[in-house]
Amino acid sequence: MSIVKGTEQIVNPLQRSALRKKGLCDYVINVASGCLHGCTFCYVPSTPAIRTKQGQLKDKGVNNPQMDWGKYLFVREEIPEKLATILERKRTWVETEAGRGVVLLCSGTDPYQNQETARITRKIVEILTNHKKKVRILTRGLSWVKDLDVLKCDNVIVGMSLPNLDDRSSYQIEPQAPPPTKRYQALLKGYKAGCRLYIAMAPTPPTMTKDDLKAHLEKICQLSPEVIFWEPINARGSNGKRMIAAGLDFTREIMTKKSWAESFVRQWEDMETAAQELGILDKLHIWPDPELKGYVDEAKLESWFYKPTVEKW
Ligand code: SF4
Repeated sequence: MSIVKGTEQIVNPLQRSALRKKGLCDYVINVASGCLHGCTFCYVPSTPAIRTKQGQLKDKGVNNPQMDWGKYLFVREEIPEKLATILERKRTWVETEAGRGVVLLCSGTDPYQNQETARITRKIVEILTNHKKKVRILTRGLSWVKDLDVLKCDNVIVGMSLPNLDDRSSYQIEPQAPPPTKRYQALLKGYKAGCRLYIAMAPTPPTMTKDDLKAHLEKICQLSPEVIFWEPINARGSNGKRMIAAGLDFTREIMTKKSWAESFVRQWEDMETAAQELGILDKLHIWPDPELKGYVDEAKLESWFYKPTVEKW
């Protein structure tokens, strides 16, 4: 399928989010449906956000929204106008302990994947900060550095997904996203400009050893991130099929629940040891999976759910 692009309308762009469980936010705004980065592991096409609109997507020329993930994008151009009205009328604002009232852009797409989404994202951030809302950007795109005038703000933190700095493997795993070495350069620019930063060291492939993780954490430390989120690659569901189709040999090793859980726990221990050795354990924020029950100490597992981050909000 060739790339299908268009626009989409949405009634309420400001949605409550369950991602406070990961310490990320209380609200989320998704500037589009679909994502041109097409990461093979992406769970978004398996979620109701895409599954509930198979018919709509078919009408727009997307026959298999799961396997064709990365080949379609429908931008929600009306969001800035709608958001401004919503915020003017809004009288209550949820601020949970772990979510901090933060608005995340985005959970189901990338806010800086191309010019159209970047243009809308910039306007949204301006509107949110004018209303004194806290904003979290999460992206693999590079063009956020053009918006430093807006993003360099106490109420905004910018994060990039940066599992490692291996451009070759990234090309297989995240085929249409900018290479991680370029993402690192963008972060360096943001750091030098004084932008608040965090890193999502996620998702790490099971092939990364403790030494690999430590070397990467050392590079990340040079950016002085407020927090480093971590989780490994998950290969269950349609994302597992896409990873196999992309020729990722390690996928079959983590496709059963047992092999996935054991690999997760091993890398979790390695991450903690590496962070401890570097003296940055306090910055490490684990994103565990409830399915790990029975494979890891239950109290340890539970302690990470709904845990506030160490960020300076
Ligand atoms: S950038 Fe995020 S939303 Fe887009 S394909 Fe990758 S993981 Fe999915």
